[in-house]
Amino acid sequence: MKCSEAARRIHDYVSGELEGDDRERLEKHLETCEDCRSCVEENMALRSRVRDLMRVSAPASLRAEVVRLSQAQV
Ligand SMILES: [Zn+2]
Repeated sequence: MKCSEAARRIHDYVSGELEGDDRERLEKHLETCEDCRSCVEENMALRSRVRDLMRVSAPASLRAEVVRLSQAQV
């Protein structure tokens, strides 16, 4: 798997939506690729930050901003 291919799947992987062969191939790539691994870590950190922000009832404008940022990441 190439990095460009892996990058497209990282979002699904982090949200637990990547399954089967795709998941296995991505995990294999992550074992050998430090760049993509750190990308996964960043995504996971972002996700937990978003969860924290959602817990404290954020104003709608901030929530929209968070959604925008998390989509820009992909
Ligand atoms: Zn890679």
